[in-house]
Amino acid sequence: MKLFKTLLAAAALGLFAIAPASAQDKGTIGIAMPTKSSLRWISDGDALVAALKEKGYGTDLQYAEDDIPNQLAQIENMITKGSKALIIASIDGTTLSAVLQQAADAGIKVIAYDRLIRDSANVDFYTTFDNFQVGVLQANSLLKGLGYPEKPGPFNIELFGGSPDDNNAFFFYDGAMSVLQPLIDKGDLVVKSGQMGMEKVGTLRWDGAVAQARMDNILSANYSDGSRVDGVLAPYDGLSRGIISSLRGVGYGTADQPWPIVTGQDAEVPSVKAIIAGEQYSTVFKDTRELAKVTANLVDAVLSGGTPEINDEKTYNNGVKVVPSYLLTPYSVDKSNYEELVVGSGYIKAEELK
Ligand code: BGC
Repeated sequence: MKLFKTLLAAAALGLFAIAPASAQDKGTIGIAMPTKSSLRWISDGDALVAALKEKGYGTDLQYAEDDIPNQLAQIENMITKGSKALIIASIDGTTLSAVLQQAADAGIKVIAYDRLIRDSANVDFYTTFDNFQVGVLQANSLLKGLGYPEKPGPFNIELFGGSPDDNNAFFFYDGAMSVLQPLIDKGDLVVKSGQMGMEKVGTLRWDGAVAQARMDNILSANYSDGSRVDGVLAPYDGLSRGIISSLRGVGYGTADQPWPIVTGQDAEVPSVKAIIAGEQYSTVFKDTRELAKVTANLVDAVLSGGTPEINDEKTYNNGVKVVPSYLLTPYSVDKSNYEELVVGSGYIKAEELK
């Protein structure tokens, strides 16, 4: 009875109000992801939900299956439902100006996640990897696979770019060409199809089937004379797999006609398996768990009046302003180091590669 009275008195004084905050208490964060068709965005979504939960936030995670109106509707819905902040990996980085104005009017902070959102002042921060460096790594690994400069060439290569509505695609391509262009100019590398520049080599929506069809055309138009393609610059594992299918279709992957060197990005399980099997040469590993962590920390700092951690304030001009950014480091991965970097870090479990 005495305890009961003490509890009642405590309740009357409002002492229970200082009980620790439960998960959800800090509000809901809207997370708009482009598609589930690529494994990396599924990992990103899961990692963001976990990292934000740890900080006391609820989440509203939506995937738009690469459909722009769908992503717009999802973001509008997050705003209406009172999200405290929005984390957006855009499908088309130029289509969000109107919806981001609504977010700004409602006082909602916006973080562009991995892909820069362009043409809007209402992008508060950008978290990503060093995207130019991704391209440099891809080009250097293409050269390593070709054995250049010990083997002097000339080598026949073909070039693939990412989706032209994704700002990253230009950074990847420009990074790669900063390494390859001088060697093309010297004649050590030959782009036999002549197809160069993002307007020619871009692959809308990062679609592997589109890359496969383009590779089919390149092979039949330029390599039916018995000449060989020695290397392919591919900016994303999903495209690499499409390109490899096309190559397989015309007989590559045998002792007489060994695989060309094909690059990639994202260390997706099927591509790491293809690297182990010797079909794909390399990928670029970007630890999306780290990206999620950095982003969750940033959101928490912004919402709780802290100082968000930024390490780049010059690279990412979105057409309206330079967006304060945090860039993480990408790593080149091939057969020689996948175990150490990708398995050793726990990003992929050894069993998944069996
Ligand atoms: C990401 C890459 C990814 C590509 C396709 C880019 O914006 O930075 O990691 O491979 O989208 O999903």
